[in-house]
Amino acid sequence: MLVGGEWVRTPQVRIISLPYDGTPVAEVYDADAATVDRAVKAAQKGAEAMAGLTQYERAELLQRMRSLLGRDAEEFARLVSLETGKTIREARSEVARAQQTLAASADEARNLRGEVVPMEAAPTGKGRWAMTVREPLGVIAAITPFNFPLNLGLHKIGPALAAGNSVVHKPSENTPLSALRLARLAIEAGAPTGAYNVVTGSGEVTGRQIVNDPRIAMITFTGSGEVGRQIRAAAGLRRVTLEMGSNSAVILEPDCDLDLLLPRCVAGCYAQAGQVCISVQNIYVQESIAEGFTERFVAAARALKIGHPLEESTDIASLISVEAAERVECWIERAVARGGKLLTGGTRRGAIIEPAVLTDVPADDDVCRKEAFGPLVVIHRYSRLEEAVDDINAGEYGLQAGLCTRDIGKAFQAARKLRVGGVIVNDVPAFRVDLMPYGGTKLSGVGREGPHFAVEEMTELKLICWRG
Ligand code: NAP
Repeated sequence: MLVGGEWVRTPQVRIISLPYDGTPVAEVYDADAATVDRAVKAAQKGAEAMAGLTQYERAELLQRMRSLLGRDAEEFARLVSLETGKTIREARSEVARAQQTLAASADEARNLRGEVVPMEAAPTGKGRWAMTVREPLGVIAAITPFNFPLNLGLHKIGPALAAGNSVVHKPSENTPLSALRLARLAIEAGAPTGAYNVVTGSGEVTGRQIVNDPRIAMITFTGSGEVGRQIRAAAGLRRVTLEMGSNSAVILEPDCDLDLLLPRCVAGCYAQAGQVCISVQNIYVQESIAEGFTERFVAAARALKIGHPLEESTDIASLISVEAAERVECWIERAVARGGKLLTGGTRRGAIIEPAVLTDVPADDDVCRKEAFGPLVVIHRYSRLEEAVDDINAGEYGLQAGLCTRDIGKAFQAARKLRVGGVIVNDVPAFRVDLMPYGGTKLSGVGREGPHFAVEEMTELKLICWRG
């Protein structure tokens, strides 16, 4: 672990294994209570140092981190692939995106600004002049999930440093390797001591201790709804950002461009074996095109190559663990027992699940309504667009939705009606560039990420008002 610029070990060793076949790849250490305490103390010093840097200096630091990540991109990609089990091509794409996140954070460091408030526009404001400034909060706890261990960490670390804060980062217990490598990179880039600290360990013990530490000014969390709720309850009056899960849907109207959208739907469902928070889990197809679409989709799902994550030709590797795959298998079996039809896939071998396609599943079934986080999709037929929109809105999640039609009027109406954080028109919901506002409604989250928006959440807006 990196604590206040020093590498720390504890007697508690944890083996990190390749989820695909269980091959051990590294040994890490679980933090004890004293190490967490030390990390928060170091971060308090780090916060002072970060707040003392000019905006130019913070931007330069983030730019250097970006350049170093570019230099070491292939090493990071291998680490990400080994710890998550995602394919090497997907891991490379994550590393490329992580560089974009750092670049956007550097831009925010340069552009962080307040505004002049027109005090004399109020009846009692005569003779007053005011401005706002954005000030750092102090120590920010970043708690991140397993599925994008590098880029989702940087979505917290980049904006936090841009705003002049320090970070205590707890990555997922399964995937701490890229965060530890990032800590080494931050030192090389010249980050002040204590600006970025990484403590590893379980959420139940290490995560909980960090969240409950009153010296932490803000908790920025990405992960499941269940843990998000606990963190919100523990945070009290401190600030929180919660980026949580979804059961995302795409709607296909009869006039959409199916040739273009079919491969996008396949990628949206099965990229990273479905372990993406905006994975396509539900496809709503207008009944007049449902049969043809389903046939082509099933054929495309069958054509995906399952294999070792480090092989260049692999399309789909394993889930994060055997337990995760067993859960998905069990959900599919239950859906079938309730009358659902399994058109292809669904069989399990260790942590691998063959890409599954289901239809005719009861609307309240877990595979439709809960977050599957695995390589399965449910195809639904609808008659009128409103039915599909209402069905999506009836669920408890609201991260992103895809809406595909050439009719601008329809698209606009439905986009306004969907209760989600983002509507992606003429594409699947599984689309993100790292500078856009990203986050959800309902059980999908609180607050927005994307460096511009995260920096706002990670600063205090202060008014300075002058009389005379
Ligand atoms: P998770 O189980 O909720 O874990 C997320 C993080 O929280 C991990 O670091 C975990 O530690 C930690 N944690 C667990 N219990 C905790 C506690 N009581 N106090 C503090 N921290 C605690 O999620 P996951 O399985 O890693 O990731 C999958 C989930 O993330 C899915 O629901 C997915 O949709 C969501 N996600 C959302 C977004 C988004 O931007 N909206 C992006 C990616 C993923 P350990 O794992 O080390 O125990």
